[in-house]
Amino acid sequence: MPEEEEIEAPVTHRLEPQISSTHRTVSSDHALREHILSQSKLWEWDVFKLEEVSGRKPLMHLAYYLIQRKNFFQIFQIPSGTLKNFLIAIEAGYQMDVPYHNSTHATDVLQAVSYFLEKEKMQGQITDLEILASYIAAAVHDHKHPGVNNQFLVATRNERAMLYNDRSVLENYHVSTAWQVMMQPENNFLVNLPEEDYRLLRNQVISMVLATDLAGHFSTLSAFNNKVLGTNTFDINQSPEDRAIFFRILIKCADVSNPARSWLVYTSWIERLIQEFLNQGDEERKRGLPVSPLMDRSSINIPAGQIGFIDVVCAPMYESFTMVVGAPEMVTSMKKNRAILMRMRDNEIPPLRLGENGRVIQRVRSTIRIAGSTTPPVQPTSSSLLQVSAISVLARPAEDSASKGSTE
Ligand code: AMP
Ligand code: MG
Ligand code: ZN
Repeated sequence: MPEEEEIEAPVTHRLEPQISSTHRTVSSDHALREHILSQSKLWEWDVFKLEEVSGRKPLMHLAYYLIQRKNFFQIFQIPSGTLKNFLIAIEAGYQMDVPYHNSTHATDVLQAVSYFLEKEKMQGQITDLEILASYIAAAVHDHKHPGVNNQFLVATRNERAMLYNDRSVLENYHVSTAWQVMMQPENNFLVNLPEEDYRLLRNQVISMVLATDLAGHFSTLSAFNNKVLGTNTFDINQSPEDRAIFFRILIKCADVSNPARSWLVYTSWIERLIQEFLNQGDEERKRGLPVSPLMDRSSINIPAGQIGFIDVVCAPMYESFTMVVGAPEMVTSMKKNRAILMRMRDNEIPPLRLGENGRVIQRVRSTIRIAGSTTPPVQPTSSSLLQVSAISVLARPAEDSASKGSTE
């Protein structure tokens, strides 16, 4: 047995710049950032590096870079200063003290969306306007996230829940507040878009951001899977409905793509997400509310929860999505991660668990040692299903109940 060392997950180091500011120059920072941005075309990209070299402002750098790379300044007559203003304002709307839903997560989702749209199978299929709309949707999709979920806002009778009648409260809020930013003349970089293009773009952004509410997950996914896997009739060029579903699944896959990243990047996301979940659980306990499943620090089981999330939410969506866009690396990476989690859950290797300050502790050497080993096929296990059946965000399909006209 190689000796094992208990250390904190690497993400905790990433929050602080690793090169001290006295040893960094403006030009070396710029060069490093440009290099990291140029790597964003790879699935193995590490968004935390951009977070670090951008002074925790990765979103505006990646968004500007992608828009420039696609020549959109020219194609859509975008005034560069106005775009910068918009991106700075949007990034400022993401709260740095929210562990997971901050602008680094929005950057991660933006990179995933652009990565999928660059796939060979997608070439010639998607218009420039749709690509621009997809970038905007990804960039704003969690704008001003408060670090608690829809169920919490509804249960605590938050003013946002009143404003949006308990329906996709956060998602309505994200897109609405982002558009308020856009409507300020100094931020309105869409000023030169023809009216019809503006209408199409806004409609797509709204549709995509609202699709990120997991309450509508199963209805959106079954509409997609029925056509991709069932009748084999999915065709974005023949059916406007399929086209709209495609963009909704595109952002949904990007939004929950963390289990398909490298083990190192994935566990960094887990740590942030769990910190945010536990903060909410603590707040619920303090207010005398039932503590949400997966948010209770006294009973949390990270590997089992992650396996459940992968089996129920990610795998069924990734597998059909990848047939459409051609990104099998996503599924391969997810399976590798799942294999490690299974061994942790079954106590074959030390699990991810909570340490001091709510940080995730893991035995890094042993997990890295097995990272490239077996990748068994994904089969939902009864215990993982049990875990996820308890995920409250999935338990209450707001979109479905809304369409039936009931409130509960
Ligand atoms: P969003 O809030 O827009 O980022 O929507 C995605 C939701 O998926 C998050 O709020 C989480 O509830 C959930 N999610 C994403 N990644 C994970 C993960 N690794 N484990 C459990 N839940 C996740
Ligand atoms: Mg969201
Ligand atoms: Zn998100």
